[in-house]
Amino acid sequence: MKHITHNDADLTAFGKIVDGKAIAATIRQSLKSRVKKLKEQNVIPGLAVILVGDNPASAVYVRNKLRSCAELGIASSKFLFPTDASPPDILRLIEDLNANPEVHGILVQLPLPPHFNVTDILETISASKDVDGFHLYNVGGLVVGNTVFPPCTPYGVVKLLEHERVPIEGKNVVVVGASNIVGKPMALMLMQKDATVCICHAKTRDLAQFTILADILVVAAGYPKLILAPMVKTGAVVIDVGINRLPTGQLVGDVDFEEVRKKAALITPVPGGVGPMTVTMLLENTISAAERKTAKADSISI
Ligand code: NAD
Repeated sequence: MKHITHNDADLTAFGKIVDGKAIAATIRQSLKSRVKKLKEQNVIPGLAVILVGDNPASAVYVRNKLRSCAELGIASSKFLFPTDASPPDILRLIEDLNANPEVHGILVQLPLPPHFNVTDILETISASKDVDGFHLYNVGGLVVGNTVFPPCTPYGVVKLLEHERVPIEGKNVVVVGASNIVGKPMALMLMQKDATVCICHAKTRDLAQFTILADILVVAAGYPKLILAPMVKTGAVVIDVGINRLPTGQLVGDVDFEEVRKKAALITPVPGGVGPMTVTMLLENTISAAERKTAKADSISI
């Protein structure tokens, strides 16, 4: 019989840390075979990325996305514009890319400079190439539970939960953050899986009264240590989407990781949790777009 020391007992009580990097690697492996199948039909999935301005975080995200495409055999093209770029130029480029049969996915890296109307830009992307899932057509699909391009970050969270076999049906889910990119689509996706979902945001009064009820707590606010251990139910699954850079240069999430880990059953770290899944889901959406287009072309030729 193993002798459990005090330290061992403490360790066994800690929540499992979800290895988003490893899960993403497993999914990417399966995506490789889908790319191979497409190539056998002479189709190379193609992603076009448009970056406007010199936001350093955006530049890093775009670099990661392009590198990941290359690793998987997805053809990517990058279109860089200065901060003072003219919106009609970008709209024209998007229209050209919409018409280009070698491009299956189009992504405009957000945020855009303030003189851009983001809605105009996103609505110009063809709904069939909208791999970020931000076009109103795709948002509508998400609302009615019939999504074509699930937005990448919340889709990555769903995949993480599935991979960890976390039951969702009937569970209390609290999503902290109500953005169009993460919080709202996250809530819709988990509601679609029959969870009881509550969305909190910056105007929510007494956040803790909601978070403490969560069986699954998803946090996407962009605020370090927003979620402290007393706000979390013992045994909860805690998904930290937040990415914050501290003045020390350290990258942290929105959750007090060390303390919350002692109460949670499962917790995602930052970095290495949700982040690697987001890019993976972008790759998956691009491959799906290419597959759909190829299947359509085949059925037309029959
Ligand atoms: P956002 O600023 O658009 O939205 C933040 C949301 O959080 C808003 O709804 C706001 O009301 C809410 N909020 C802010 N402060 C709050 C508080 N004190 N209490 C409760 N709610 C609060 O941000 P976003 O684009 O949704 O991103 C959120 C976080 O997730 C950021 O840290 C961002 O960097 C990160 N993020 C990570 C990934 C990833 O791949 N891991 C992807 C996208 C965003």
